[in-house]
Amino acid sequence: MSRNGIMNYARYINAVSAARKPSPIRGLTEVLLKSPPTMISLATGMPNPNMFPFEKASFTIKGGLKITFGPDIMNRALQYSASSGIPELISWMKDLQKHIHNPPTINYSPERGQMALCVTNGSQDGLSKVFEMLISSGDTILLDAPTYPGTLITLQPLGCKILSISSDQHGLIPQSLSDALSKWKPEDAKNPLSDIPKVLYTIPNGGNPTGASMTTDRKKEVYQIARKYNLLIIEDDPYYFLQFEKPWAPSFLSLDVDGRVIRTDSFSKILSSGLRIGFVTGPKPLIDQVVLHIQVSTMHVSSFTQLMVLQLLQQWGQDGFLKHVDSVVEFYAKQRDAMQLSAERWLKGLVEWHVPTAGMFFWMKLKGIPDTHQLISEKAVQKEVLFVPGNAFIADSSVPSSYIRAAFSLATPEQIDLGLQRLAMLIKESV
Ligand code: PLP
Repeated sequence: MSRNGIMNYARYINAVSAARKPSPIRGLTEVLLKSPPTMISLATGMPNPNMFPFEKASFTIKGGLKITFGPDIMNRALQYSASSGIPELISWMKDLQKHIHNPPTINYSPERGQMALCVTNGSQDGLSKVFEMLISSGDTILLDAPTYPGTLITLQPLGCKILSISSDQHGLIPQSLSDALSKWKPEDAKNPLSDIPKVLYTIPNGGNPTGASMTTDRKKEVYQIARKYNLLIIEDDPYYFLQFEKPWAPSFLSLDVDGRVIRTDSFSKILSSGLRIGFVTGPKPLIDQVVLHIQVSTMHVSSFTQLMVLQLLQQWGQDGFLKHVDSVVEFYAKQRDAMQLSAERWLKGLVEWHVPTAGMFFWMKLKGIPDTHQLISEKAVQKEVLFVPGNAFIADSSVPSSYIRAAFSLATPEQIDLGLQRLAMLIKESV
């Protein structure tokens, strides 16, 4: 942080991102989209929507609601739109973030890290753009281990060193983060030539693969460590809305007095994974850089799907949305209970696990099996049951792991039961 208490965001933005310039054409498109109908545009090369073949559409929503795309909405849905996202969807999401997280940064000035938000093609798209903005070859990034393979495979080609921080059933262990950082001094963060890490990535709820959720105390401790070493925190939270117990845990975003948290949210687990809608929320100077990247890659998330989701959210309102989330949670909590029951029935004495309080996964340690890779990739497939071997979730996948990830999202309770029975047979045959 600088002496006046304002984060120096330039410190975190790598050379590639810093070199990005706004697209002049995209800028004009956005002027046009905000203009009154009296504006005559001979500027942008937007196609004429009258030449598009699609005329109208309607979607029937479970529970009886209907979304209709008449000619006006249809024209908008088929046309280019703003790179940061459809403005009404951004403002709906900002209201939701405010309601749920009440971020301290909401009324800050833009330079001080005012909360901003953009729409991405799922949270994966947002995450990869955030990493590509922050990470340079040779940097060291801190992440809780084991972690989401989508993050590992995004980071690996960027040439950074991954410093894994231990975690347990309550997520990342603050002491382990402090220990990892103890090789540097907090003052090193002021030295541009120091190799001190600048970024911590963590999945705070229903971790993939561990199912672990961080306690509030741990989050507060981690935030203080981030302040001490001037780290940005990337809070990858696609399972936030799959927390089985209320009150939901406060997020890093809600603790963020400095403007050092970038949060990725996803509609994949609650509305649709195929629609590809996610959000990046964070300090405006960093979100602006992500949007510059969007301008030259996807240009924007499909206007059609954004408007489809927007219409649903507008009809539901925040209350309707949260009611829907409750019904999703109810389903997954039952699925979790079914897996817990079957695990108790078949795996006692053979496997160690913690019951997850959020998300979709059990992280299981197979006793007496130091490396699950072959067992899961070959023998389990022959027995017609699939899991993910633990080494898929560690930075160096050649290191053996005695863990597997079991998902309870898709299979029926009967299938879960049969699957775990097959796993028990496999383990007994192998030890
Ligand atoms: N982050 C984590 C931890 C995930 O588990 C996933 C998907 O499973 C994603 C990000 C990406 O989700 P999406 O791009 O569908 O929003």
